[in-house]
Amino acid sequence: MRVSSKITRLHLKHPFKISRRETDAYREVVSVEIDGGIGEASPAKFYGETVQTVAKAVEDCSSALEGDLDHIQDVMQEIESKLEGNYAAKSAIDMALHDRLGKQLGVPVYKLWGLNPHRTPYTSFTIGLDEPTVMAEKVRQAEEYPILKVKLGTSRDIEILQTLRRVTDKPIYVDANTAWTPKEAVQKTGQLAEYGVELVEQPTKPDDIEGLKYVRENSELPIIADESVKRASDIPALVGAVDGINIKLVKCGGILEALRMIHVARAHGLLVMLGCMIESSLGITAAAHLTPLVDYADLDGNLLISNDSYIGVTNENGKLILPNRPGIGVLTTT
Ligand code: MG
Repeated sequence: MRVSSKITRLHLKHPFKISRRETDAYREVVSVEIDGGIGEASPAKFYGETVQTVAKAVEDCSSALEGDLDHIQDVMQEIESKLEGNYAAKSAIDMALHDRLGKQLGVPVYKLWGLNPHRTPYTSFTIGLDEPTVMAEKVRQAEEYPILKVKLGTSRDIEILQTLRRVTDKPIYVDANTAWTPKEAVQKTGQLAEYGVELVEQPTKPDDIEGLKYVRENSELPIIADESVKRASDIPALVGAVDGINIKLVKCGGILEALRMIHVARAHGLLVMLGCMIESSLGITAAAHLTPLVDYADLDGNLLISNDSYIGVTNENGKLILPNRPGIGVLTTT
């Protein structure tokens, strides 16, 4: 058996809330090891996965991991042909294979793909939903980060922005996490634009492409799809309905598919954001290796937890600094 997995619990520094969920105090992730390479899955129930389904899926994939692991494209293709869905699990496997190959060749993942590590963007820092005054306090604590992503999707959205604007003049991205109707989204984006919001992520329901299109055509802010787009094959249907897409390794199944998505998005003239779940520095660093190719990075899941087991990507006042170590390049903290 060349693959093993372990479930761990990541504790949040502050309870974290988005529009469709109750407040979370922790998140469970699965770390995967394959022949010396490591990866991580942070599964979301919204996408039909749990740590248990991830652990089971990884076990089910073990026969595909018997051959030459250098051929990551072949291995992932075989897994894709045998196992539907389970993209967080596939992502952990893909990460571990990239980490393994990079370690064997002695090069960082960004170098495997010929990327310039100096072209990384600044990451935004996420402010979860809470009482407006508590959110304003979180904004004050995020002083070192030059871009904020604010979770909205409540009856108090404008009040929240008004409160935050009293304490910051930084660029703000807003993420409604599917909470608004198309009409409500048009009205709110109009108001949000007056408060210096720069883009709006997933204003409406994931499968309501017409709704997204209506919002885009009637609002002046760029509209970025997140829950509406999981894999490269989802992108063509969104052309004309959004200005950009948010790619996450756990949604799409790993680095290979994320690269495919970046190129498909570019071919359609779309903006690209690379996002994350609550993850340790292992998952976040794997994604960070691709950021030289994207417009926006929202890779702060590791900054929101108090028991990160890894040191990997860091940032200097928000600018992502990739580790110059083989593979994903994380070190363990314990
Ligand atoms: Mg989002």
